[in-house]
Order: sequence, then structure tokens, then C-alpha cells
Amino acid sequence: MKERLEALRSEALDKLQTVADAVALNDLRVHYLGKKGQLTEILRGMGSLSAEERPIIGQVGNEVRAAIEAVIAEKQTGFEQAETARRLQAETIDVTLPGKAVGAGAIHPLNKIVEEIEDIFIGMGYTVAEGPEVETDFFNFEALNLPKNHPARDMQDSFYITDEILLRTQTSPVQIRTMKAANGRTPVKVICPGKVYRRDDDDATHSFMFHQIEGLVIGPNIRMSDLKGTLLQFVQEMYGPQMQIRLRPSFFPFTEPSAEVDVTCAQCGGSGCRMCKHTGWIEILGCGMVHPKVLEYGGYDPNEVTGFAFGMGVERIALLKYGIDDIRHFYANDTKFLSQFAKI
Ligand SMILES: [Zn+2]
Repeated sequence: MKERLEALRSEALDKLQTVADAVALNDLRVHYLGKKGQLTEILRGMGSLSAEERPIIGQVGNEVRAAIEAVIAEKQTGFEQAETARRLQAETIDVTLPGKAVGAGAIHPLNKIVEEIEDIFIGMGYTVAEGPEVETDFFNFEALNLPKNHPARDMQDSFYITDEILLRTQTSPVQIRTMKAANGRTPVKVICPGKVYRRDDDDATHSFMFHQIEGLVIGPNIRMSDLKGTLLQFVQEMYGPQMQIRLRPSFFPFTEPSAEVDVTCAQCGGSGCRMCKHTGWIEILGCGMVHPKVLEYGGYDPNEVTGFAFGMGVERIALLKYGIDDIRHFYANDTKFLSQFAKI
């Protein structure tokens, strides 16, 4: 039995010398030392030995096991070190290579303009209100004094979702929502920025989606002169203290009287040039005193309160501020264009 153990030892050690990898090593371990392995197999025969032989053979068995285990452990360590070395080699980082440049993002010029306009009006005591882009016919038209079949609806070709639901064509519905939420309280002083949608063919000055900012003030004794003073303050903060405005009579269903507002042409300073068609003025927004019917729809008594409202296209404000000639630049997401505004 002792001979069988010795033979097993030398056979195992021989095979271990040539083992190729960790998997084969484990197979050999199971083959010789496992529960059903060769060593166990031999030692199972110990029951037939005499009491004197048993401890001797037992000791030889332990020595054989220890010898094989020692070689396996040594091989195992060797394989692990080789694997680590291989991975280190494969994953070597060349710290001398230049890094990948990560460009910093910037706020979109239109968002920048919106924030700037908001800041100006917040400075005058306004709060910022928002409303849904999917709007009902009632809020978008009817409550703004544009009943069904009103010819002025043609001014704003709309994207209808159902007969009663559409993508809002203006930010004015937020006026009605704000008045209703105020529940008759005054003063109301809000601006409402947001996206609006019209069935326009896209060109240098039109887009099916663009941004508006609506302003609304309601209170006792609000006058047209308050409106003009407010807009002059806005224009001078936005474009510079040398800027002037003028109001021209106009028509909007939701204001009476209504006016278009022109601002001094920034290009020529008012002396006349091609951009302002030699008038010295550039149109920037529409405004007026809130129509009594709109006040009623908003839950106010037109005999007790008055108000003014104005609406401006954010793209137009931006075109004038930055001297850009095509609105489509804002939507093309060309980083060469957008990055120019990163540091303004
Ligand atoms: Zn000009």
C-alpha cells in the first residue's frame, strides 16, 4: 500500500510539472485529491490493515497529500501571477497620449434671451407664469374675444388636434388662465414665456414653432401710459439707453385700443438704412389695453379694473439683438453658430 502511495505521488508530481493552465491544474487536483480521487481510493483500503500499520500508512498518506497540495499551490500562484502580468500588459495606459477634448455646453441663445427678458420684468415686479402648449379652443381663441368664424382666426393658421383642442398659436391663453387663477384679485403682473405653433411655411422669418413672451397687467387705473412706460423701460434695458419706441395704431381682437411697437433701428441708430427700410424704426411687438370682454372672461369687472397686455416673438428680439438675418439658425443646432453665444 505504501508502494501504491509512493507511485501515486511520483505520478502526480510528474503530471503537475507539465500542467498547462489553471483549468488543467484544477482537473488534476480533483483527479488525485478530490473526494472520489485516487488518494482517497487508496486510503479507503486502510480498514484491512493491522493496528500497527495503520498509523504508518496514514502518515505516508498525509505526506503524499501535503506534497501534491504544495505543488498545486505553487503552480496556482504561478498561473495567477502570469494572468495578472498579462492583464497589466493588455490594459496598459499610455499616459503620454493627449486626452479627448470634452466641449463645454452653453445655454441656447433663445433661452438666454428669454432669461434676459424675464430678469428685466422680474426687476419691475412681474412674476413668471406658464401654461400648456396643447390648449383648448376656448382658452386659445374664444376667451380672447375670437369667437368661432371670427375672421381674425385666419391670421393664425392652427394645428388642430380635435375640433376643440389645438397646439396654442400664441401665449395669450396664459392671460386667461392667470386671470382665472387670480380669482378677481389685483394686481396681476405676469409674463408668460413659451413655445407656440402655427401652420407657417418655414423661411428666414417664419417657423411653424417659435417662442413668444406675453405680458399682462391688471389693476385699478392701469393706463396706456403705464404700458408705454413699461415697454420703453424694457427696450432700453434690452438694447441700450439710447433706444426709443413709438406706438402705431393696430388691431388685435383681445385688446382695445391696440398698437404695434417700433424700436429705434439698432443698425443705423434711427437715421435710416436698408434694414429698417429707411424709416429708422423696427417693429418688435404688439400690445394694447385688455379688451373689456377678455377681462370678463377672466372674471373681472371692466368697470372696476383695467389692464394692458403685450406679446413679443423671442426670435425677433434675438435677431435684432444679435444682428442675425435668418430665424432658422436658431433651430439647426449647428454648434458653430451656437457656440458664438456661449460667452456673450
Ligand atoms: Zn436702420
